[in-house]
Order: sequence, then C-alpha cells, then structure tokens
Amino acid sequence: MVMSSSEIERLSYDVVVIGAGGSGLRAAIEARARGKKTAIISKSLFGKAHTVMAEGGAAAAMGNVNPNDNWQVHFRDTMRGGKFLNNPRMAELHAKEAPDRVWELEAWGALFDRTKDGKISQRNFGGHEYPRLAHVGDRTGLEMIRTLQQRVVALQQADSVELGDPEAMIRVFAETTVTRLVKDAAGRIAGVFGYIRDTGRFVLFETPAVVLATGGIGRTFKVTSNSWEYSGDGHALALLAGASLLNMEFVQFHPTGMVWPPSVAGLLVTESVRGDGGVLRNTEGKRFMFNYVPDVFRAQYAETEEEADRWYTDQANNRRPPELLPRDEVARSINSEIKAGRGTEHGGVFLDVSSRLPAEEILRKLPSMHHQFKELAGVDITKEPMEIGPTCHYVMGGVEVDPDTAATSVPGLFAAGEVSGGMHGSNRLGGNSLSDLVVFGKRAGDGAADYIESLSGARPSVSSPDLDFAVAEALAPLSRPDGENPYTVHHELQQTMHDLVGLIRREHEVQQALTELEKFRERAARVSVPGGRATTPAGTWRSTCATCCWSPSAWRSPRSNGRSPAAGIPGRTTPRCRLNGARSISS
Ligand SMILES: Cc1cc2nc3c(=O)[nH]c(=O)nc-3n(C[C@H](O)[C@H](O)[C@H](O)COP(=O)(O)OP(=O)(O)OC[C@H]3O[C@@H](n4cnc5c(N)ncnc54)[C@H](O)[C@@H]3O)c2cc1C
Repeated sequence: MVMSSSEIERLSYDVVVIGAGGSGLRAAIEARARGKKTAIISKSLFGKAHTVMAEGGAAAAMGNVNPNDNWQVHFRDTMRGGKFLNNPRMAELHAKEAPDRVWELEAWGALFDRTKDGKISQRNFGGHEYPRLAHVGDRTGLEMIRTLQQRVVALQQADSVELGDPEAMIRVFAETTVTRLVKDAAGRIAGVFGYIRDTGRFVLFETPAVVLATGGIGRTFKVTSNSWEYSGDGHALALLAGASLLNMEFVQFHPTGMVWPPSVAGLLVTESVRGDGGVLRNTEGKRFMFNYVPDVFRAQYAETEEEADRWYTDQANNRRPPELLPRDEVARSINSEIKAGRGTEHGGVFLDVSSRLPAEEILRKLPSMHHQFKELAGVDITKEPMEIGPTCHYVMGGVEVDPDTAATSVPGLFAAGEVSGGMHGSNRLGGNSLSDLVVFGKRAGDGAADYIESLSGARPSVSSPDLDFAVAEALAPLSRPDGENPYTVHHELQQTMHDLVGLIRREHEVQQALTELEKFRERAARVSVPGGRATTPAGTWRSTCATCCWSPSAWRSPRSNGRSPAAGIPGRTTPRCRLNGARSISS
C-alpha cells in the first residue's frame, strides 16, 4: 500500500505532550504558561487516563497532620523504600517540591479532604514515617485529573477571549495514538506520527519538543491493576528514537489486589485500607506481618499487636504496624504465607478492616472499596474480610532523564511520570507517583520550553525516510493477509510474563523467559489486522518491544524485583537498555 504525503494530516506545534494523565497535563500547562503552542495527545478519551484510577493520595511533606514531617524525612523514606537505588537528585527535587505542587492543585480548585483545623488532610501509607498523603477519600486521581483538565479549559477560555480561538495555544487530541517519533537528519526530534482512532487517518505533528507522559507497562502481565492503556508505548517510542531505558527489571507488585472472582483478579485494593487500620491475616487467623520485618526497618516497626494498634492513636510513643512496610516487603510476605499453605482457597490472604473500624467510618473513608467489593465480589467490607493477593501495579524503570530538566539523551525528547525511570529506585512508595507526576510534569514542560528557546527559531525538519518508515510500519499489519491475531500474541505474552518473571524470579525461569520473548518478538512482527485502518494495530508490538527490553535487564539481578541482590552495594551498575542498530537490543 503506497501512501502520498498529502494523505497525512500535518499540524505544527512548539511542544507535543504524549499522554493526558497527571504528568502530561501538568507538562502541557507549564509549556503553555511559557507561551508555547502546545498539543496534548491521548490514545484514550480526555479524562480517562490511568491517573484517574489513583485512589490513596499524593505524598507531600506538608506536615499538616504531624508537624515533624519535612522534605528531608520524605527524601529518606523514598530512598529507603527504593533500596537506595533511586536517583538521589530526583528524590530530592520530588521531596522538596511536592508540597508546592499539591498547594498549587488546591489553588486550581482541587477539593482535598480536610483536617479539623481546615488544612489539607494527610493519611498514613506504607513506608512513609508520617501521615503524608493528601487525598480526596479514595478517589484522589479523579480529583487530580478533574483539576488539571479544568486548568487546561481555563487556559483555553483565556485564549478564546484574547485570541478569538480557544485552541489557538493549547489543544487536546483525544483517541489519537502515536506510533513513532520522527527525527531530522541530525537526530533531533522533529515530529510525532500517529493515527486518529475513529477514522484511521494518519497525522504528523511537526514539533521540535516532545514530552513523553505515556504511563507504564503493567498490561504485559496477566494479573495487573493497570488499565488497557499500559502497553509500554512510551518506553518503546523512546527506545526506538535512541533514548535509553534504565532499571527495567524493577516492576512493582502491589500486595493487595482482588483475587476473587477471576474476572476481577488483579483489581487494586488501595493501601489506604491498611493505612486506616486494616490488618493482614492468614487462614489461621494470625497477623503474620510481624514475622517478616527486615533488619533495615526493625527499629521503626512495632513488635507486638498491642503496640501496633496503639500507633493509630498515639504515633509519638509507638511504632508503626508492620502491615505498613513498603509494598515489596508486604507482597513477598503474602507470597510466602500462600506458598506455606496458609493462603485461602483462591490463592490469597485476608485483609480485614471490618473488625477494626465502625461501619460508618469505613463507608466515609473507603467508599470506592466498599462499592468495589459489594458490586464485584458480593463482599460487604464493613462486615467481612477481603481476600487479596499481589498484583502487577507499577514500573519503576523507565526512560532515563536528567532530573532537573526531564530531558532524555535525544535532543528535544523529554519524559515525565511513570514512563520515566530513576525516581523510585527498586520500589515506589505509595503516593509518591501522584506527586512525582506534578513535580516532574512541571519540570518537563519547563525543560521543553527552555529547549525550544535555545533553538532560536531554527526548527528541525522531519526527515523523509523516517516518515516513510513510520507510515509503512503502521500499514504493515493491515496488508499482511495471514498473520496471527495480535490479541492472541498479547494474551500469551501476559501468561509467559506471569509464569516466568513475576514477583519472585528464579534464574532458570528468567532464562526460559528470554527464549520465549525472542519468539514473541518474531510473532509480533508477523501479526495481521483485518478490517481496515480504523483499528489498533500498534498495541501488541509495542508491548512486546517494552517487554523484550525489560527482560535482559531482569537477568542482571535474577532474584530482584524490589530487592536487587546488588542493593546498596557500592559500584552496582544500573542496567540500561538501548536499541542497537535496527531492532536488536543491547543492555
Ligand atoms: C488502581 C491504581 C491506583 C493507584 N493509586 C495511586 C495512589 O493513590 N497514589 C499514587 O501516587 N499512585 C497511584 N497509582 C499509580 C498512578 O496512578 C500512576 O503511576 C500514574 O497515574 C501514572 O500517571 P502518568 O501521567 O504517568 O500516566 P497516565 O495517567 O497513565 O497517562 C498516560 C497517558 O498516555 C496516553 N498514551 C499512552 N500511550 C499512548 C500512545 N501510544 N499514543 C497516545 N497516547 C498514549 C494515555 O492515553 C494516557 O492519556 C495507582 C495506580 C493504579 C493502577
């Protein structure tokens, strides 16, 4: 199929942000505030980005509930939670700037829950020494997205008054999927290529600066809390453009996902349940987390149930319950209980808040959880425990960026949010993503604006071979007559990842996964999609690409996943992945 360039819609922007979640919207707002003509692209509907699912809150050391909190303690908690494999500059900027970004959201209209004296309320979460998560019940992501979207609309209204066109300076392209970044002959970013979902029409955004804000890779695993969008597109786009990914072996398994019924397995049960008093028990009724406190955390965690329970009302004189250890520790402990035969018939353990809080408090603090279990599992969490187990939740690895500017090694390419790597080390603390989005989203918008100004008007122009390749690649699955169904390939890929490289990794299984992934890469290159251009051929291939990249890194530390054997050891090298030549991956 040959396509003339006139069949491609061409648009011109100063900054193109790929992704309309928290990080993308914050980056776009900043770029627009710096006077740059900005496009926001989203493969889903505006308002449906993954950020909307976030429940527990945004971590920021405002000290509203415990005045002892400050950015230094937040920095220490983040580094310790990440096993000191975090980029320390990113963790520092995050801890210092998160409070300002949360107050900014409030100024833009976010209706956070309040303390009795009217400040933004902050709740406890695993790994955070003090109550630190600014929240809106258990629907914080929804409020964050609503606020940021409203801010975009406010900017558009101002442009309407001033320039006569609401979309003159900032425009949203919903249901538009990016399949390639295109560069100029010198290797600088020059454009973004993709297609509009409902028509299949191709579109080229000519731009010198791109901010990747595409989220994670969770859909490469079978049991996951992540939405369909998380196929690792941004990781693949960056890699194919020549940027490097780091620490891709660090995939977080949240300790508490639903395990029953099978149709909802993996759906998240927010950490707020534990933060607000919920406890973990095995089938013998034992609060088993007391048996799993690692030495590095021992001084901060209670040794008896009595002390742990006192902590909820008197934090100054008691230590935290071990249910509030960082996620990786809790997930592995649950796994050990299940493996030891103390798990439920559906392969989980019990999370109980019903015996800990009055029903009305549960309904006030955890309305979504109550609704979720009632509707999907027929369980009333005010009366009975939940059955939960680990679920793939977040990828700590991602595109390598400069902490201050969010710039990648490719001129003109920036990344923020879950697609970027380094901030969270080998394990992200709950609540640190939402604050990461707004801290580094703003920095990425600024970084992109600074970069454009440094070009002094000399914009890179798209190289024709790059564009031709992007078109041919997008059309290939449509013109291939007898290829495999992409959904079959994706489904089997998820099963392989689940079976061989999940929460606990063994050397021989990682080796086996590498062999299997090579086969998936070949199969993904042969998929075919019937039904014309108004379909979505890119997903499977993207997912496979990101996974193939993840895997060689994981091999470096086969026991890892939140606990690298090299953690804390001076001289530990950070695994990086780069595309070497046309398709092969080196790491
Ligand atoms: C159930 C759940 C609860 C959570 N709760 C919390 C919490 O309480 N606190 C916390 O800190 N974190 C939480 N997290 C994690 C947090 O929500 C995410 O890490 C964060 O929202 C990611 O935001 P983002 O801006 O990076 O990407 P997203 O919000 O995922 O946005 C990605 C955007 O990129 C677009 N996109 C992707 N690929 C393409 C493409 N090829 N072309 C065009 N557009 C594309 C998508 O359409 C979307 O608009 C939770 C996660 C889950 C799953």
